[in-house]
Amino acid sequence: MEQWFLNKYSPNTILKIKIKKLLFQEKSPYQTIEVYDSHDFGRLLVLDGIVNVSDKDEFVYHEMMTHVPLFTHPHPEKVLVIGGGDGGIVREIAKHPSVNQIDLVEIDSKVITTAQQFLPRSAIGFKESRLQVFNEDGAAFVERRPDCYDLIIIDAPDPIGPATSLYQKHFYMQCFNALKDDGLLTTHAETPTFTKELKIMQSIYSNFSAVFPLVQLFTASIPSYSIGIWCFVFCSKKFHPLNDFRESSAMESSMHNQYYNAAIHKASFALPTFLNTAIHPSHKVP
Ligand code: SAM
Repeated sequence: MEQWFLNKYSPNTILKIKIKKLLFQEKSPYQTIEVYDSHDFGRLLVLDGIVNVSDKDEFVYHEMMTHVPLFTHPHPEKVLVIGGGDGGIVREIAKHPSVNQIDLVEIDSKVITTAQQFLPRSAIGFKESRLQVFNEDGAAFVERRPDCYDLIIIDAPDPIGPATSLYQKHFYMQCFNALKDDGLLTTHAETPTFTKELKIMQSIYSNFSAVFPLVQLFTASIPSYSIGIWCFVFCSKKFHPLNDFRESSAMESSMHNQYYNAAIHKASFALPTFLNTAIHPSHKVP
């Protein structure tokens, strides 16, 4: 009998993904964790019914969340990942030799062991010697680390379940405090394709704008998350993602990226008019 995973983009739009096999299913104290093997998307890590990682396009997400800020900061050394239990973000950070400390705070240790068993491409990040893993709530963790990091990457699921604390303005202020004077932060922010997600994106953008002096959206396409554009948020105390972009370092780098490159870095900040209007309703875009 054919088996399908229903990837619910919105309450009214579903992508049916034909699966070969359900490889793993367990209820941890925090969420239901499932791993499917699918025909077109490869392996899928699904938390509480939502795709968090797919073999097909995880590189787009992990490379953009990581290299955009790390090629903007002039000398990044200390990086904090909040969430990120699959390891993909750490895999990308580890490509930067200037980084000497990677802290990862993941509330659910079961996600890490599941990724290590079933998602070796992402979980290779956990072999990194500069990495220290903490199993606790990321919101509580940042409060105890003022003035500590050059970069914080929030790699959290959608704002439900244990991740709810990672979408509060108070948490954004604690992240601001945990960054050094010239620190950067990236996170992801849903899609403008569907009304509910658009509203979440607008709220993430405006809440960060109330905390950081410089906040910009950048985008990529990640089919396993949604159709159309997927948004990321770049927040900065000082450096500008285009004016301070270390373009020649990005061009000369021998990293084996599959998506990120210098041209993509610059192009990802060019927003279509409807998106610019959605985040700056009073702005006229030329
Ligand atoms: N890229 C993914 C996405 O947006 O779909 C996120 C991937 S990563 C697997 C997300 C991780 O954040 C999960 O493993 C989850 O357990 C963890 N997480 C959720 N809430 C958290 C919290 N409050 N503190 C730390 N980690 C949390």
